[in-house]
Amino acid sequence: MPVTVRCYSAAHSALEPAMDAAPARTRYGMQVTESIRQTRIRYALLFAAAVATPLLYPPTTALLLLALVSYAIRMFGVEGIYHRYFSHRAFRCSRRVQFVLAVIASQCGQHGPLWWASVHRHHHQNVEAPEDPISPRQHGLFHSHVGWVWCERYKDTDLDRVPDFARYPEILWVNRHYTLLMLSGAFFIWLLARAGVFGPEVSGGAALMWGFFLPTALGVQTVSMVNSLGHFRRLPGGYRRFDTEDDSVNRPLLALFTMGGGWHNNHHRYGASARAGFAWYELDLTFLILKLLALLGIIHDLRDRLPDDVREEGGLAPAPAGDKVGG
Ligand SMILES: [Zn+2]
Repeated sequence: MPVTVRCYSAAHSALEPAMDAAPARTRYGMQVTESIRQTRIRYALLFAAAVATPLLYPPTTALLLLALVSYAIRMFGVEGIYHRYFSHRAFRCSRRVQFVLAVIASQCGQHGPLWWASVHRHHHQNVEAPEDPISPRQHGLFHSHVGWVWCERYKDTDLDRVPDFARYPEILWVNRHYTLLMLSGAFFIWLLARAGVFGPEVSGGAALMWGFFLPTALGVQTVSMVNSLGHFRRLPGGYRRFDTEDDSVNRPLLALFTMGGGWHNNHHRYGASARAGFAWYELDLTFLILKLLALLGIIHDLRDRLPDDVREEGGLAPAPAGDKVGG
């Protein structure tokens, strides 16, 4: 039976052109990274260790601070790098910076950059249609939350959805070896603890649990909530600024924990933007970090301006003169 693929014009026009053109013809094929059994075991170990963390090592101020910083780095890796850069190209950077960003983001425990961007572009292009892997409307809450990650169908990376990045061998390498990079990051945390960087009372084991397992597992859960609860209108605690055809919802609490990713209705209306919080009160920590990186000259061409029609549609004040798209 043919699958209906819907792409409503308002959101689609906001996507990066390369994103629309990606599936046109095969050039790169599929990249196999791990078996679905390995994915499931990795998830199970990660969450078992996270649950055991406070039991094995009771929280202290130093451990809580370590967990918070580690969580923030991993969350920025997902939201700022995997999502806004590799999926939507909301800013530009040099090839070297791109590689460093990919390595940082690989610490998030959610596969490699090309896998993430590939399935995310597929989501945007087929939002709420049967082909959308993370639509609660189509597949239910559990499947949209984490069940789809465990499906054989989505385990490999469809490089033809990300031809703009698949041409870089070093990014292909990161995508293939993200588990090795993530474990290397965990080893680095252990080394820092052994060197006394986190204070004399933080052992290598405690640093590993509070600085790696717990924040990584929490990050996987909160990002998964954007997929599930961010597309679940019936749950209170959110609002829709835009009357999009999909079920996307802005959720302030989720936006706080995902550093801006929870402004999901805004994002589905204008996904090309580097900012997901459109109003002054929609705190978007990822955008603030990106703005800082742009000020420092590390990244450039930050797409931070909203078109006037999007502002008007969302009930937002007009952009100041000289701060308009193309202005
Ligand atoms: Zn997106």
